[in-house]
Amino acid sequence: MPYQPGRHFLQVPGPTNSPVAVLQALALPTIDHRGPEFARLGREVLDAIKSIFRTTQPVIIYSSSATGAWEAALVNTLSPGDRVLMYETGQFSALWQRVAQRLGLQVDYLPGDWRSGVDAAAIGARLAEDREQRIKAVAVVHNETATGVLSGVAAVRAAIDAAHHPALLMVDAVSSLGSVDYRHDDWGVDVTISGSQKGLMLPPGLAFTAISGKALAANRSARLPRSYWDWQDMLGSNEGGYFPYTPNTNLLQALRVAIQLLHEEGLEQVFARHRRAGEATRRCVQHWGLDLQCRVPAEYSPVVTAVRVPEGHSADQLRSMILTASNLSLGAGLGKVADKVFRIGHIGDFHDLIVIGTLAGVEMGLKTAHIAYRPGGVQAAMDHLQQVASGLSARRPVWNEADPDALRSTAAV
Ligand SMILES: *Cc1c(COP(=O)(O)O)cnc(C)c1O
Repeated sequence: MPYQPGRHFLQVPGPTNSPVAVLQALALPTIDHRGPEFARLGREVLDAIKSIFRTTQPVIIYSSSATGAWEAALVNTLSPGDRVLMYETGQFSALWQRVAQRLGLQVDYLPGDWRSGVDAAAIGARLAEDREQRIKAVAVVHNETATGVLSGVAAVRAAIDAAHHPALLMVDAVSSLGSVDYRHDDWGVDVTISGSQKGLMLPPGLAFTAISGKALAANRSARLPRSYWDWQDMLGSNEGGYFPYTPNTNLLQALRVAIQLLHEEGLEQVFARHRRAGEATRRCVQHWGLDLQCRVPAEYSPVVTAVRVPEGHSADQLRSMILTASNLSLGAGLGKVADKVFRIGHIGDFHDLIVIGTLAGVEMGLKTAHIAYRPGGVQAAMDHLQQVASGLSARRPVWNEADPDALRSTAAV
C-alpha cells in the first residue's frame, strides 16, 4: 500500500489511541522484573490502579487480553457445575457466556434484544425463584461495546440485595473503566474485570480483576482448576511489588503514565469529555436520519455509538470505503449485527476535533456509498460541542445570503 500522509484515525472502540507520553514509556529499556526498581514500579501501579476502579481492595494485573480476566474471574471463585446467571446484552456478553460454558459451568443466559441494557428486574426475579441458592454468580457487561449500550450496575446490585441472594456480582468493565464513572466498592461489585486497550489508553496486553473480600473468601473454596490465573499466587507476589512470573514490564511502565494522565485531566473531566463526544456523535447520526443501535436514551454509551445502516446496504462495505478514502478505521458490527451496524469509537485519548474529523469522514463515506442521509450532521455535532465547551446557549449567527450584515445578529438554531 502506498504511503498515506497524515495521521491514521483509529476510531474503533478499542484498541484506542495512546498518548505520546504513554508510547514513550513503552519505549523505555526493559528492566529486571526481580530487581528493586521493578518492585517500586509494581507497588506503585498495583496501588494507583485502585483509584481508577474506585476500590481499596486488591486489583490483580495479568499479561493477557481482557478475555483472560473473564476466565480468571470464573475459575477463581466457582466450582464445576456451579450455576451462573448472565444477561444477553450483545456480543461481549455472549463471549463471556461461552467462556463459562466451556469451563463446565451451568449458565442461565437471560435473553436480551441487543438494543437495550441489563434488565435488573429480570435478574431479581430469576434470583427470587432460586430458593436453593444454586446460582453462585451474576455476571453482566457494564458497557456493551458491540451495541453502544451502558447498563446500570448499581441497579443489578440492588436487585441481588432485594432478593436476599448471596450470589457474587461480576462485572465486565472492559470498555468503561477510565472513561465512564465506575465504582467497584460503592456498587458492591465482587469481581470487576478490565483490559488495557480501551479507556486506559494503552496498547493491548494487560487484563485486570478487582476483587472484593467476599470474592476472596469464595476463592478459598472454589474448585475449578486454575494455574496461570490463580489469585493466591498473584496476591502473594504482589505484596512485595512482584509477580509470580515475568510481567509485562514495559506495559506496566506505560500504565503508570496513563494513570497519571487520567488524574492530571481529572476523572470527572475525562467522563464529561466522553459524554460530550457521545452526545455530539448521536446528534450527528440522528441528523443524518440513521438509526442508533441503542434504543434506550438513558442507556446511550458515552464511549461508542453503534449505527445501523439502512436495509440493503453493507456496513462493512461502508467502513472499507471510509478506510480507503479517509484513512479512518471504524468498528465492525459483531455477531448478530455483523454488516448491519458500524461503530464509532469515542474512547480514550481524543478531543473534540478528532470527533468532528471522524464524523466528517463518515458523512463523506455515506455519500460515496450512496446511502441516503440528510447533510449537516457534522454541523449538528459542532453546535453541540461548541455549546458545551463555551457554556453558551445553542444560538449562533445565521448566514443570510441577501444580507451579510445579518451575520452579526444572533438567531436561535
Ligand atoms: C474489548 C472487550 C472485551 C475483550 O477484550 P480482549 O482484550 O479482546 O480480550 C471484553 N468485553 C468488552 C466489553 C470489551 O469491550
